[in-house]
Amino acid sequence: MIDIHCHILPFLDDGASDWEAALAMAQDAHREGITSVIATPHHANGQYMNNAPKIKEAVELMNERLRQAGNPLLVLSGQEIRIYGDLLNDLERGELLSLADSRYILLEMPSSRVPRNMEEICHELIIQGFVPVIAHPERNAEIAADPSKLERLIELGSLGQVTAQSLAGVFGNKLQKLSLELCRRNAVHVLASDAHDSVHRPFGLNAAYVVMEKELGPEMRDYVRGNAQQIMTNGEVIHGKHVQTRGNRQKLFGFFFRKG
Ligand code: FE
Repeated sequence: MIDIHCHILPFLDDGASDWEAALAMAQDAHREGITSVIATPHHANGQYMNNAPKIKEAVELMNERLRQAGNPLLVLSGQEIRIYGDLLNDLERGELLSLADSRYILLEMPSSRVPRNMEEICHELIIQGFVPVIAHPERNAEIAADPSKLERLIELGSLGQVTAQSLAGVFGNKLQKLSLELCRRNAVHVLASDAHDSVHRPFGLNAAYVVMEKELGPEMRDYVRGNAQQIMTNGEVIHGKHVQTRGNRQKLFGFFFRKG
């Protein structure tokens, strides 16, 4: 299993507070069956600045510590980039990182609104050959009020990344419902943990995939799980309908039952 968004690197943001915490998170990940994680420290969110060289160095140190601890987890570099004015210039200057050096780039909006220039930035990134991955759209107030605002970004060629705990219902019924609704609108392509620690915001990917299979069918679960791998290896994420409604699934099972 692959996780494309987590805050496992210590000392950079509100994720792991020190090496001990980072290694404990790595142990959780390994125990959960995660083989690789993309570390995505916050960048330019008004609180944290973590440019590309700083993250690359931390990733190297983290992997060294993991080898010493005998943990086979592989940590790759990434960045959770807040939408800001100089984003495109900084990308050109080599300040920004895509996910595992792929063409997929993780973008974060403020939680209260969709920035006015969001479509423009996504469009420009796509022209440059990148694929924007919209981090936790379910936590954005404007998208919650009007999911078509996310659909618009998806139509441009962006991907939607829902947080595992939102979908699993850990953050409450409202966020879970919205996460499932975004999936049904084909606006979700990948799940990620957005893990910050071992206790309050852990990885929790397995639990989310179980809910996903139950609510949306095994095809959707496999699609979303496969897309995490595609992103990490710079493969292709194919847009399309993968959600099976309960009615359809029951009909399908009924069909097999009658045949048997
Ligand atoms: Fe995050």
